[in-house]
Amino acid sequence: MALWCEQAWLVDGWRNNVRLTFENRRISSVETDVEADAGDERHAILLPGLPNLHSHAFQRGMAGLAERAGRGDDSFWTWREVMYRFVDRLDPEGVRGIAALAYAEMLESGFTRVGEFHYFHHDVDGRPYGDLAATAEAIAAAAGETGIGLTLLPVFYAHSGFGGAAPTRGQRRFVNDVDRFAKLLEGSRAAVTGLDDAVVGVAPHSLRAATADELASVAAMAAGAPIHIHIAEQMPEVEACLAWSGARPVEWLYDHADVGSDWCLVHATHITDAERHAIVASGAVAGLCPITEANLGDGLFPAREFLAEGGRFGVGSDSNVEIDAAAELRLLEYGQRLAHRGRNLLAAGADASTGASLYRGALAGGGQALGRPGTGLAVGEAADIVSLKVGDPFFSGRSGDAILDSWIFGGGRRLVDCVWRGGVKQVAGGRHIARDTIDARYRATIARLLA
Ligand code: ZN
Repeated sequence: MALWCEQAWLVDGWRNNVRLTFENRRISSVETDVEADAGDERHAILLPGLPNLHSHAFQRGMAGLAERAGRGDDSFWTWREVMYRFVDRLDPEGVRGIAALAYAEMLESGFTRVGEFHYFHHDVDGRPYGDLAATAEAIAAAAGETGIGLTLLPVFYAHSGFGGAAPTRGQRRFVNDVDRFAKLLEGSRAAVTGLDDAVVGVAPHSLRAATADELASVAAMAAGAPIHIHIAEQMPEVEACLAWSGARPVEWLYDHADVGSDWCLVHATHITDAERHAIVASGAVAGLCPITEANLGDGLFPAREFLAEGGRFGVGSDSNVEIDAAAELRLLEYGQRLAHRGRNLLAAGADASTGASLYRGALAGGGQALGRPGTGLAVGEAADIVSLKVGDPFFSGRSGDAILDSWIFGGGRRLVDCVWRGGVKQVAGGRHIARDTIDARYRATIARLLA
């Protein structure tokens, strides 16, 4: 299998007339300034696929259902009530139907691996399914059907507030103690064995949901795989943590856990300078979800300072209210522009392209956070590749980094043409190859859940 393109964004920048070959789902050769062979598939522009480091796939099914004004202050916490009601009706088959659509859309937008922060485990009454990992198997089935790379992050969730508060009724489908979580993790590892290049990490849900002892036990179960946690997303969470412990969430975490480059701190929105320095120094990845954070009114992560200090970051589609790799990067930059009244604030230095800087950063940080660090299009890397619709009039007169800047700031998802994951073409002409089946199942699933 060989692809030839006019321009490719390689590890050291743009190169012309590039020929890539695949073997065993990896890139086996990269030649530049060469002619295409007769059998090569020809494209105009090739880029590495982007990792999506944080997703709750089932929430795709409730996108747009929490956009009506409530009474009083509408906030994250009223959104969460809508989510809990939706969850009340969900079952493994529903998880699969919704996740398959979300993953197809991720691939169509340029994401080639997803970190599924999977916290929905049990039956309607809160009792485990006969097969403890039934919903993890549904996620694995959706990943298998769509071909997206899966880093499954089974979530440990035991409490509703700091200090081990009992879980609420709305959380009954999420909760496990440490022993049952260990079994769930085992079941989750078994669930992904049929997938190409899957990773299973762990995810203590948040400092609200796990005590210090539980956090230590769960982190130890990662055995070198990634550890993800939601942290400091909302000010009420910061205030509750301060009231409980006298420390802020990120401060508390660094005081009580050995946070290193295997950790991903999802959101980390509300942090002090000292907390920001701690994250940078630890090598942990900040898991930023700009579209969801905007949708939920979370606040702004101090990205300008964090990136300037060498902090590692990746992006995630989180609630999946909108799925678009380019749009996540765009909004990350726009948040900083609005806050600081400047432009090109996340570019990696003078004259650097903002789009290329964001893409390079999210590629490295996202790969690190998902347990598959990569550098992009190079020999030995996974053949996770995106081609853009450069025939689109929108791209007229663009080359090199201007293509990335134009895609990210001016185009977005509609400009993705083909996507390969592990060397297999999953998206052609902007559409996932199994879309008809996935769409039909999704429609039936939603009709059933919202009936
Ligand atoms: Zn999340």
